[in-house]
Amino acid sequence: MVIIMQNGVTEEQIEQVVQRTHAAGLKTQTNVGEQCTVIAVIGDKTALSDTPIESMAGVARTMPISAPYKLASRQFHEENTVISVNGAKIGGKQLAMMAGPCAVENTEQIVRIAKHVVKSGAQFIRGGAFKPRTGPYSFQGYGEPALEMLATAREETGLRVVTEVMTPQEVGLVGKYADVFQLGTRNMQNFPLLREVGRHGKPVILKRGLSSTIEEWLLAAEYILSEGNPDVILCERGIRTYETHTRNTLDLNAVPAVKELSHLPIIVDPSHGTGIRSYVPAMAKAAVAAGADGLIIEVHHDPDNSMTGDGVQSLFPDQFNQLMQSLRQIATAVDREI
Ligand code: PEP
Ligand code: MN
Repeated sequence: MVIIMQNGVTEEQIEQVVQRTHAAGLKTQTNVGEQCTVIAVIGDKTALSDTPIESMAGVARTMPISAPYKLASRQFHEENTVISVNGAKIGGKQLAMMAGPCAVENTEQIVRIAKHVVKSGAQFIRGGAFKPRTGPYSFQGYGEPALEMLATAREETGLRVVTEVMTPQEVGLVGKYADVFQLGTRNMQNFPLLREVGRHGKPVILKRGLSSTIEEWLLAAEYILSEGNPDVILCERGIRTYETHTRNTLDLNAVPAVKELSHLPIIVDPSHGTGIRSYVPAMAKAAVAAGADGLIIEVHHDPDNSMTGDGVQSLFPDQFNQLMQSLRQIATAVDREI
């Protein structure tokens, strides 16, 4: 349920409603929007059946939220959420552009790629230090030394660091280096991890699970939000379908669907979404045209020798640069900027 407050409501009136709700054993989150203030009530609302919230001063009306996710719902938060990461915004007019290798391999590699992508206009460097590999004998990432290499790339370029965290135990360590956590597709429903990044407080990119519905994905976001972290960025990265020609099926329907259902920003990963380098530019452009708030793209200067199999889907730095040029035109056409 949400409690919609009247225009001109006072802080004291909001506080009284919050106190009354807490007294009934329920939790609240308050969203002070431009149009109106909305208080989300979290928990079993029947606990409020003896409490006449609607007649309290400052209350306009109450409304049930029909979706099972509440804080992620646009019914709770009408305006788009815009997340700031050291001066870069995700969810605003400007698109958030994230690029870099699948895995951090050495300092020279990550700094070199970072210098290329910053020149092309990216604001974020991506790179895995902890890699979720399908098989246990594949390269698993260099761990903390790779996080230090990412920090060096940040110092040399000013780019913000996006990197994956795989376990709740590693959130503290990864959080020392990352500007934005990435939660990978395989961990979308790792509930202890969702809760831990929710408590930590840094922005989180939540990739869509390999076979998850949009509702399951928004419920996973709800875990993070319900721990008090409002900075969740959804990332469509393709889902598993019967089609085997591409690595995944990039579900661009998710972009307008998420925009309708939720206030959270959504970015698109056309690299994992296709698995094929030559398809990445077309799907990146399509994602921007569909209304995505940004892109996360794999870029490698020597993809044939990359340490994960993802070289085949990585753009060369020059291709990324060219793509950024053509994206500018698409962005303008849909009233966005790069
Ligand atoms: C990645 O970004 O390199 C990655 C492993 O992504 P996903 O979780 O989408 O497979
Ligand atoms: Mn990858």
